[in-house]
Amino acid sequence: MPKFPRKFVLAAALLAALPALAQEKVLNLYSSRHYQTDEALYAGFTKATGIKVNRIEAGEDALIERIRNEGERSPGDVLVTVDAGRLWRAEQLGLFQPIKSDVLDKRIPANLREPGGHWFGFSTRARLIAYNKAKVKAGEITTYEDLADPKWKGRVCMRSSTNIYNLSLLGAMIDHLGEQKAEQWAKGVRANLAVDPKGGDTDQLKNVAAGQCDVTITNQYYYARLLRSQKPDERQVGERIGIVFPNQKTWGTHVNISGAGVMKHAPNREAAVKFLEYLASDDAQRYFADGNNEWPVVAGVKVDNPVLADFPDFKRDALNVAMLGKNQPSSQKIYDRVAWK
Ligand code: FE
Repeated sequence: MPKFPRKFVLAAALLAALPALAQEKVLNLYSSRHYQTDEALYAGFTKATGIKVNRIEAGEDALIERIRNEGERSPGDVLVTVDAGRLWRAEQLGLFQPIKSDVLDKRIPANLREPGGHWFGFSTRARLIAYNKAKVKAGEITTYEDLADPKWKGRVCMRSSTNIYNLSLLGAMIDHLGEQKAEQWAKGVRANLAVDPKGGDTDQLKNVAAGQCDVTITNQYYYARLLRSQKPDERQVGERIGIVFPNQKTWGTHVNISGAGVMKHAPNREAAVKFLEYLASDDAQRYFADGNNEWPVVAGVKVDNPVLADFPDFKRDALNVAMLGKNQPSSQKIYDRVAWK
């Protein structure tokens, strides 16, 4: 190797690095997602825009807490998380700034984004009724309201009421039924519980398959994960379970979102908006949704996912998902009053 004076080598290195430092565009993404398809998702964005994605991953609630603590000094540009109820909480804490984007307004259905542009849904999930096929006949239960029927006494498993999925579901029921009937429902379901609420959706499904209870509520992707599992015992759990898309003849099945917003103090605001617009593109929609067996929000985008392909077309609740957040304080009070843990 030829020898150059040390000074020369340093100067050359600096010259090479400077333009890169000045020009490298980055996006700091705070995300509670960690799916296999995410790599392709971020690579696609960098390829299209030249903007590098720095990922900071943590659990959903921990992430919001972290951003809160960072305050104005937060390097975060975009927050990606699940459930409109959680996005609403982040909005209430002042973590987002409103975004006006024709691309997002055009691509994302109005009921799947916050009307003020603080956050946007990029995939949907549905809260289904799941039952043990050996104990419950198909058609025996068709609505969320049915779960409160005394017929199911001692036969229902549910996760905790502090869980955001249940808070959001009750938020939808408050909107459709009114607070009084929603409370009666919660009281009835609480009275039907076979065991105290414990564990996540997958635990409820396992309890149903094992015969500890006969019915539960789950997001579709937990069921899909069991069916697609590499582990035979998990596939067996999935095979013992029947699913219902509730309320097809009334207000439709409760749907929620995975979503994102641009953070209040985003140092790279322009890149952040571009990233959200990218998430609404056909390719990104496919990766984003498939990563968690969810449905794209953009009309006409199809995901190549065998489990989703087997699901029927179904009537979805048309409620704006921001209502799930607005009703969250009432939901929590109702659950507390009926002593659903
Ligand atoms: Fe989940």
